[in-house]
Amino acid sequence: MVSRRQFLWGDFKARRTSQRPPWARPEEIFRAECSGCGECIAVCPTRIIVQSGRYPEVDFKHGECTFCGACAATCKDGALRRDACPDGPWAIKAQIAENCLAKKGVECRVCGDPCPVAAIRFSPRLGGPPMAEVDTGSCTGCGACVAPCPVAAISLA
Ligand code: SF4
Ligand code: SF4
Ligand code: SF4
Repeated sequence: MVSRRQFLWGDFKARRTSQRPPWARPEEIFRAECSGCGECIAVCPTRIIVQSGRYPEVDFKHGECTFCGACAATCKDGALRRDACPDGPWAIKAQIAENCLAKKGVECRVCGDPCPVAAIRFSPRLGGPPMAEVDTGSCTGCGACVAPCPVAAISLA
């Protein structure tokens, strides 16, 4: 039996952690507008949109966003709206955590190749393998680097 407090806390955490599909309205508006129809999930060619409770969210463990626009084009509820996002689909950027193999002194460049805009740089350093660093200016937040990382060190925020 889940208490009301536990339910609300779980709901609060979901609000804080869910990455909505690209061109999503701000969270409160999104939750008001989205009917949970699942159309965006059905049309995503890379299958990165998944159902999370009533609403859709992006899980980059399944792949990357190509910014094809199919999810927003199919949304009839106004929860995903390209015309309401003049600054682009989203503002998330890749972040590399401390468990990155290169940061721990082990040679690894796995995340560099899948990045379509070469936003992950490997800076030479003395006494260790090149350090993986994200150029946040060019990172589009596509998530292509997330799944290939052997130690799940990359997240989008
Ligand atoms: S823009 Fe295309 S690839 Fe990206 S989440 Fe929407 S449907 Fe999927
Ligand atoms: S793939 Fe993962 S472990 Fe390897 S350099 Fe990139 S972030 Fe680090
Ligand atoms: S999220 Fe996409 S653009 Fe950003 S570093 Fe990863 S692969 Fe490159």
